Amino acid sequence: MTDIPNVTLANGIEMPALGLGMSPMGDGEAEAIVAAALQAGYRLIDTAENYRNEAGVGRGIRASGVDRDEMFVTTKFNERWHGEAEAQQAFANSAERLGLDRIDLLLIHWPNPRKDRYVEAWRGLLRLLEEGKVRAIGVSNFKPAHLDRLLGETGVAPHVNQIELDPTHSRPEERAYHAAHGIVTESWSPIGAGGDLLANRTIVDLAGRRSKTPAQIVLRWHVQLGLVPIPKTSKPERLAENKDVFDFELDQGEMDELASIDGGDVGVTDADRFGH
Ligand code: NDP
Repeated sequence: MTDIPNVTLANGIEMPALGLGMSPMGDGEAEAIVAAALQAGYRLIDTAENYRNEAGVGRGIRASGVDRDEMFVTTKFNERWHGEAEAQQAFANSAERLGLDRIDLLLIHWPNPRKDRYVEAWRGLLRLLEEGKVRAIGVSNFKPAHLDRLLGETGVAPHVNQIELDPTHSRPEERAYHAAHGIVTESWSPIGAGGDLLANRTIVDLAGRRSKTPAQIVLRWHVQLGLVPIPKTSKPERLAENKDVFDFELDQGEMDELASIDGGDVGVTDADRFGH
């Protein structure tokens, strides 16, 4: 078992290169899998106000016996907290539900451009960072146009943008924008959210040749591109499988094979239309 390495955010904070996704899961399930994951060597846990399991995540953290300072806890807040003071309140609410006094990474969950308050929410996050209540700040589902506004109006880029990304939706424009601005790309639904990605012929063939599982091939692809995947499982027996992707490397030919299944942005959730 190889440890999960870290990536370094633009402010120098170290973030694990792979984490555990927490949606959908109730509090009880969340508590059990978070404790098991931390004991199995996971350090990054990705929850959200919207998942309604922050209390369970907090209980799992305490049950794990792992030192809090070794963990990297991420949560996200909803549209109703888009505002400078509101974002501070969103932090306080999540911290209380989690039972933590500090959150490692706090994200604006969706830009909700129709509300047009994400820049104010970003200012709230900047204040929380200054006050040391969070170690890093970021956004989720922001398009380059939304990021342009954050940069233009505050001069500060998010440390992380968490977006929908897998080999069939490889999001090259977003990745290039992030790379140009020092933003780490975190991949949600990295193994296809229980759909048919893991049955894709190219992935299954490659997995067979390498004696890996399809999930491991896909997760290794993310890691090799410098992306931080957060695969969700509520099955303890899958925890080791999903994290053991740091002891092998895909060669250029294999990366090219995976590039060939990119279907563009078809089916990607449109953050100008959807949000909460
Ligand atoms: P994932 O791509 O992580 O897929 C999860 C699904 O794959 C579940 O059905 C899980 O089932 C199954 N699975 C897990 N491991 C394996 C395996 N080794 N082999 C086969 N199947 C497996 O999708 P998610 O949509 O859950 O995305 C991951 C995380 O991203 C979420 O949990 C959440 O934290 C975050 N997210 C963020 C969003 C945002 O707007 N920012 C939106 C959506 C997700 P089982 O549990 O039974 O193992």
